[in-house]
Amino acid sequence: MHCPYCRHSDSRVLDSRVAEDGSSIRRRRECKDCSRRFTTLEQMQLVVVKRSGVVEPFARDKVIGGVRKACKGRPVTEAQLAKLGQQVEEAIRASGQAEVPANSVGVAILGPLAELDTVAYLRFASVYNHFTSVDDFEAEITRLRAAASATTDAAPTAQPSPAPASAEPALPDPALADPAPLSANQLF
Ligand SMILES: [Zn+2]
Repeated sequence: MHCPYCRHSDSRVLDSRVAEDGSSIRRRRECKDCSRRFTTLEQMQLVVVKRSGVVEPFARDKVIGGVRKACKGRPVTEAQLAKLGQQVEEAIRASGQAEVPANSVGVAILGPLAELDTVAYLRFASVYNHFTSVDDFEAEITRLRAAASATTDAAPTAQPSPAPASAEPALPDPALADPAPLSANQLF
C-alpha cells in the first residue's frame, strides 16, 4: 500500500494488532521514504454470491442504497441508515463466511430495518419476499404485532414467573426461513 503522504510504495510494519473478534488486523506502519506513520486495516474480503452465480465484493453502500429507497419519505436519517449498514455488515462478518449468498444479505437487513421503521420494513420485505397480495402484507403485519407483543410479555415483571421456555414458541416465519427466489436485485 502506498504511503498516504508521499505515495512511496514501501513501508515498515511497526506493530500488528488482531481485533478482539479476530476479524481483522490493524497494522501501524512507517513510510520508508518520508517516515510518516499511518495505519492499515486488513480484513477478510467478503463476497456476495448472487442467484445468477455472479460473485461481487460486499458493498455496505449498496445495502444502504437499497434500504434508503425503502425509507423514502420516512423519518429515517442518514446516520441511522449508516448505522444499519454497519449492523448488517457486522452480522454478516460475524457469520465467519467469506462468501455469502445475496439472500443472506437481505435477511440480515430485515431485522434491523424492522426496528428502525416498520413502514420501510414492510416495503423492503414486500419486494424481498415477493408479496403478491394484501394478504401477504396482512400476514406480515400480524407477525410483527405478535413479535411486538411477545417482546412486551417478555418484559421483566415484579413476580418472577416460572414460565417454561416453551411458553413462547418461535414464531413461524416461512418467508424468512425460506426466502423466495431473489428479485431483491431491485433493491440492492
Ligand atoms: Zn511517505
